[in-house]
Amino acid sequence: MQNTLTLIFCLLASAVFSQSGRYCAAVSPEVITSIPVTEYAQSRDIITISVIFHVVWKEIEDNISEEQILSQMQVLNDDFRAQNDQSNVLFGFQDDIADTEIEFCLAQRLPNGMATSGIIRTQTDENIIGLKQVLYTTSPAVDSEHYMNVWVADLGGGLNGMASFPGTASPDKDGIVIDPNYVGTVGLAEDAQPYHLGRTLTHEIGHYLNLIHVFGPTTGGTCTSDDGVEDTPLSENTYLGDCPTGIEFSCESSDMWMNYMYFTDDACMSMFSNGQKARMIATLENERIGLQNTEGCLSVSISDLDEDAFNFQIYPNPTIDFFEIKNLSSSSTPFDISLYSSEGKMIFEQESVRESILLSLENYQTGLYFISIKTTEVEKVVKVVKL
Ligand SMILES: [Zn+2]
Repeated sequence: MQNTLTLIFCLLASAVFSQSGRYCAAVSPEVITSIPVTEYAQSRDIITISVIFHVVWKEIEDNISEEQILSQMQVLNDDFRAQNDQSNVLFGFQDDIADTEIEFCLAQRLPNGMATSGIIRTQTDENIIGLKQVLYTTSPAVDSEHYMNVWVADLGGGLNGMASFPGTASPDKDGIVIDPNYVGTVGLAEDAQPYHLGRTLTHEIGHYLNLIHVFGPTTGGTCTSDDGVEDTPLSENTYLGDCPTGIEFSCESSDMWMNYMYFTDDACMSMFSNGQKARMIATLENERIGLQNTEGCLSVSISDLDEDAFNFQIYPNPTIDFFEIKNLSSSSTPFDISLYSSEGKMIFEQESVRESILLSLENYQTGLYFISIKTTEVEKVVKVVKL
């Protein structure tokens, strides 16, 4: 299986694969540019990032619950807004704690304006699909310029997650992959100690927004290996599988081991620094500015539906090839239908349908589709899954 992805893992993770503990396969850029803190760290409007979760599962337990995903959203918003427990931050670093003023929402609106739950679920026959390129065609990215795509997929053990740095991945692969065991704080995460507090995604989003590990781009830092952030002291340690409680020295300074961008246990991670905030905001103002220009967090209000006037059956759903849309309401008013891919691309439309229409997904890939059904009064969007 000599694909690019495995090669990247080998290059990056060979030094840590033999140990037990947190693994992250984000590959740092070769040139790390320092970002001036003063320019981006000051208080500003909150930036809210729209998140799409792709749950791609083979084993039923990996089809994680909405509750587990919501618990992750809570962790992200607490961690990025400095609302988490920060009692372990050493006295010397307390002034460095950043409220990043970045928040996250589970997307409610797709690029074409249609409603979504922000969670796209797809079953697969592939083992360890989280390590394979087929992941990205099994559940295609939703507009990765404007949405943060998070694939929840089996990484086979030994790897918690991986993220693409800005500008390093093609749009169909730009985002984060996380193993289902390490999402949030409930469900599977309850048995995932010491990575059971949702910090894997906090850490990976750090990379996605251009943060390097505090110990620098090499695995197992050296005192010349820097992260391009002024207020995170140079460090030789990764703190892999470790959870310090007091002052730890390396490179002639105290290490900020409680920073999210180390490899410490979830319970020990509790802060981003002001310098890291500046680096993330700079990314959101430049390479990832599309994340600010989206209506993904705005809910779609579907006006009060007259259930009798709007009673459609879609069968079978999920489907392998064909499905029928049938108007079951007593009035047989004509309706318009449009079929969209999960990225919001319209692939078929038909106006003034009477009673029923048979559609085929035979020539399309497996995954999620959306049908918009519109009468003169209302529009309803229904998901259709092709197996
Ligand atoms: Zn990492």
